[in-house]
Amino acid sequence: MKPPAFDYLRAATLDEVLEALWEGGSDARILAGGQSLLPMLNMRLARPSVLVDVMHVDALRQVTASGDALKIGAAVRQAQIEHRADLVGELPLLAAAIPWVGHMQTRASGTLCGSVAHADPSAEIPLVLLALLGSVHLRSRKQRRTLKADDFFTGMMATARADQEVIEAISFPLARPDTGYAFREVGRRHGDFAIVACAAVVDRKGARLAVGGVADMPMARPLPLPEEGSALDDALETFAWDLNARDDLHATARYRRELVRRLGRQVIEEAVRRRDGVTPPPTGHQQDAA
Ligand SMILES: Cc1cc2nc3c(=O)[nH]c(=O)nc-3n(C[C@H](O)[C@H](O)[C@H](O)COP(=O)(O)OP(=O)(O)OC[C@H]3O[C@@H](n4cnc5c(N)ncnc54)[C@H](O)[C@@H]3O)c2cc1C
Repeated sequence: MKPPAFDYLRAATLDEVLEALWEGGSDARILAGGQSLLPMLNMRLARPSVLVDVMHVDALRQVTASGDALKIGAAVRQAQIEHRADLVGELPLLAAAIPWVGHMQTRASGTLCGSVAHADPSAEIPLVLLALLGSVHLRSRKQRRTLKADDFFTGMMATARADQEVIEAISFPLARPDTGYAFREVGRRHGDFAIVACAAVVDRKGARLAVGGVADMPMARPLPLPEEGSALDDALETFAWDLNARDDLHATARYRRELVRRLGRQVIEEAVRRRDGVTPPPTGHQQDAA
């Protein structure tokens, strides 16, 4: 199918983007890598009157490691971050997860901010942002605001972003000492969206587990460490039920709950080993090689 007619604005500056969103309101849509938006247009699931292409705005191409976070602009493609020399040291969780995002061809176009804006409940980048307690930097013609990932995702492909706002950048807190990170997912084939994906962050005090593919949006909660007797299994059991899994074409609710219990425990144990230096950090590219 072909998309409905729309105007195309190739913005050269951030001001042009903000002005177009202010004028267009809900009829305007940001076009980033196009990997989700263009199929939606072709299937006529979206009918914007104007697409605002942000990929040629220099101010949105910045990647800055400042203080304790890596800030990634709206026009930065997934492949650029995947191949960043220091990624495993800076953000081991993102390094582990990003090869699972679609295929190398989709990552060559798709952006990290686009994935966060699209907010698919199975998507890996929103999951990592949530697991790490990252932030979303929003800007409109009138104001700037920064939301924690916890407050940004609000439901099935729904976020706290207003129509006039662009996601200018997202920030991932950098790896901390004495902390381990692990990511795993189960999907039908590599490159498919996850049936269940789990991301864990573990320090000496406890674990934080984020789960994608089960609830309407990625969900995270603090969990006990594996050494605390049966407490972890009990907490995983409660978490698995609280996610309100549903049967769909890809998996039953029961299978998804079982994956949360098993993958959840596996990533937490793996993150403990990484925290303790027993297992080296992930190298990132093994998925495409497989
Ligand atoms: C074959 C295939 C397989 C895929 N598999 C996976 C997968 O396994 N896991 C996964 O996570 N993703 C997958 N994707 C989706 C892919 O990761 C997309 O790149 C991503 O979801 C959207 O990023 P984008 O830059 O292409 O955004 P676009 O498609 O350009 O935009 C997506 C949406 O976000 C909005 N948007 C984009 N950028 C901004 C911004 N800066 N501010 C405000 N709104 C914005 C757009 O208006 C649009 O509504 C797959 C895609 C394809 C085609």
